[in-house]
Amino acid sequence: MPRTGLRRLSSRAELAAWRAEQDPKRPIRLVPTMGALHVGHDALFDLACADGGLGIASVFVNPLQFERADDLAAYPRTLEDDCARLEARGIEAIYHPEVEDMYGPDFQTTLAPGAGGEGFEGVARPGHFAGMLTVVHKLFLRVRPDEAVFGEKDAQQLFLVRRMVTDLDLPVRIVPCPTVREPDGLALSSRNVHLGAEGRQRALGLSRALDAVAASFASGEREVARLESTLRAVMEEHGVTVAYASIVDEERFLAPAPDLPGSRSWRAVIAGRVDEVHLLDNRFLGEA
Ligand code: AMP
Repeated sequence: MPRTGLRRLSSRAELAAWRAEQDPKRPIRLVPTMGALHVGHDALFDLACADGGLGIASVFVNPLQFERADDLAAYPRTLEDDCARLEARGIEAIYHPEVEDMYGPDFQTTLAPGAGGEGFEGVARPGHFAGMLTVVHKLFLRVRPDEAVFGEKDAQQLFLVRRMVTDLDLPVRIVPCPTVREPDGLALSSRNVHLGAEGRQRALGLSRALDAVAASFASGEREVARLESTLRAVMEEHGVTVAYASIVDEERFLAPAPDLPGSRSWRAVIAGRVDEVHLLDNRFLGEA
């Protein structure tokens, strides 16, 4: 596929004009992001561009999904580097609106996630998922992609977006992307830049906890309380302040029965604080 360069679209009108020009035979694949792009995001862009797909990324630090103004202000913004990375991966357009382009002055309507959005990040970051679903829904309407790529790293987000697509009949196929990690296991995240050298070591407590629970599950442990205490213990040993460390039924993103009956699939979901940075990670625990 010949590279056509990266089209920068900074307004809804520019996006609409670009969209109208595109070949209807090529699948349009959207990768929604908040920018500060890193190697972990490259895997999403590669999925978007695979097999002749037309990849478009959005870069928008969505104020609606931040509960604290200081957290929003501190979020890294690196638009020029982001554009270089997108172009190098073969992404053909970036939509990077200002807040005013996304939300009108009297904006007030949001989408509410259901029960699967109440726990975990829904507790750690109240309002986060309503803000995320609202902007993703707006992006789907504006870009009209055939497919959209989301990282498994944010497993609850991926679950809620899939639910929204099913529940609201949205004509978009969701493509999951496996979590990209550093060689030592740390999941890549834009927030990792805020970790000091010692915090970077402590942050390994998350992936080590997931390794431990996967080993325990593989050796036959099915008692949820014991699996969860393994997660918590490893995180605490590394000096991670645990926000949550749970096993969920992957189909509902809710707590399963205490002894994991049946043949369903589960996921260990964890989050914690290191150097004031909120880190999360997860691992599939299935019998499949
Ligand atoms: P964000 O970093 O919040 O802008 O996320 C943009 C997209 O990239 C989301 O779908 C994330 O789940 C995904 N993502 C972020 N980090 C990773 C990673 N380490 N591996 C795979 N996907 C990721």
